[in-house]
Amino acid sequence: MSRQYDYDLVAIGAGSGGLSVAQRAAQYGAKTAVIEAGKMGGTCVNVGCVPKKIMWFGAQLAYALRDARDYGFAVENRGFDWSALVHKREAYIASINNWYHTYLSDSNIDEITGHARFIDAHTLEANGKTLTAERIVVATGTRPVVPDIPGAGLGITSDGFFALDHQPQQVAIVGSGYIAVELAGLLNSLGSDVMMYLRKGHLLREFEAMLRESLMEMMLEDGIDIVPRTQVTEVRRNPDGKLQLVCDKGRLTGNIDELIWAIGREPDHSGLQPEAAGIHIDERGYIPVDDFQNTNIAHIHAIGDVTGRAPLTPVAIAAGRRLADRLYDNKPDRHLDYANIPTIVFSHPPIGTVGLTEDEARAGHGDSVKVYQTRFTAMYNALTAHDIKTAMKLVVVGSQEKVVGCHIIGPGADEMLQGFAVALKMGATKKDLDDTVALHPTSAEELVTMK
Ligand SMILES: Cc1cc2nc3c(=O)[nH]c(=O)nc-3n(C[C@H](O)[C@H](O)[C@H](O)COP(=O)(O)OP(=O)(O)OC[C@H]3O[C@@H](n4cnc5c(N)ncnc54)[C@H](O)[C@@H]3O)c2cc1C
Repeated sequence: MSRQYDYDLVAIGAGSGGLSVAQRAAQYGAKTAVIEAGKMGGTCVNVGCVPKKIMWFGAQLAYALRDARDYGFAVENRGFDWSALVHKREAYIASINNWYHTYLSDSNIDEITGHARFIDAHTLEANGKTLTAERIVVATGTRPVVPDIPGAGLGITSDGFFALDHQPQQVAIVGSGYIAVELAGLLNSLGSDVMMYLRKGHLLREFEAMLRESLMEMMLEDGIDIVPRTQVTEVRRNPDGKLQLVCDKGRLTGNIDELIWAIGREPDHSGLQPEAAGIHIDERGYIPVDDFQNTNIAHIHAIGDVTGRAPLTPVAIAAGRRLADRLYDNKPDRHLDYANIPTIVFSHPPIGTVGLTEDEARAGHGDSVKVYQTRFTAMYNALTAHDIKTAMKLVVVGSQEKVVGCHIIGPGADEMLQGFAVALKMGATKKDLDDTVALHPTSAEELVTMK
């Protein structure tokens, strides 16, 4: 390793990607630093996966309290203290932030606080300090998009949602992706009145149709008001402080306490000056990389959401670790395979999905595609007034019936999927699943007994 520079490797951004590449590189003896403008842990820890999952646990408990009566308990939900949960959640997150500070210092990784910008292809500036590095990894992530319409600033994004210290009663959520779906579900379960505005007709546009349709049906049954094919064109504040949405077709919706924009995220390289290093940015603003996380500049790499590929925490982590293995552990071919990445949506009920949708499989493999599917009420819900349906679909291809897609919606789908994602990655066939002895009584057993 060269000592011509201050560092062997500097990661810009201490989120899932930046921390992972720095940790692994330092393990191999590289002199490493991480530059972070905000809080340790990035989006996932502070305003993403972690606070979202805690709110989802709270929402699950609200459902459990309701179901408890069906199981003979004389319990009554006497209210929910939003600020108490938020307080505990933030204390937990602060403990993770602190753990990272200690971990970095124990691992001999320099932590630099400040907003980094490129001076040239080997030189960065942050907080008035200039440093040079042999290799630089851009891991600056994404930020939520706010539309360019009058009054848009009266709404909040998912970042603002996690800053709420009180529960909004009437909530409008604009968007149809997983963040919109998750926030709508947990707010509804915790007792808010939720309206969702979709530009098109569907939730979760790129997901398997069976998942989309089942989720839409269950969210409507749960009382979420879903308004499809509607564009919000203006936001106004009424004299009483409530918000009013003006939609296309002249429709007006009023009485809203909180408006949440969940219409997508955009790459974050504001102030980074990537042009000073000659880094190519694509037309959507992402930093394109090859299979080895290389940008167009040989010693500058990019990982995680800023690359625009599979924006998920485990993907950023895996890409970062593999990059460090390749650079500092003499593994020249080590890289992340982006095929068959499993995903969970923490809706109510949750979704677990991996591989091709039926439509994708048919487009690629035509008539050799076969589908196995089932829909049932899980045993737990057989006793509850709240009837949640579980649905599963296996997409298989060819005479060997290789499993190319596995899609589950229903209680427990989130914990069920991981093992099936392993099977799919290993090339399992339908016969392999059939030959596996079922676990009884579970919902998961349906995946190895489908006819
Ligand atoms: C509401 C929500 C829920 C989510 N839920 C899940 C989930 O359940 N599961 C899942 O896998 N993923 C989830 N994600 C996605 C996940 O958070 C991201 O995929 C992951 O955080 C990406 O990691 P990253 O390292 O690419 O970027 P980030 O984690 O966004 O980190 C980037 C860091 O770079 C810093 N930064 C930016 N510019 C600079 C600069 N110039 N100088 C210094 N620092 C800079 C930022 O402050 C930030 O801390 C969720 C995201 C959101 C918004």
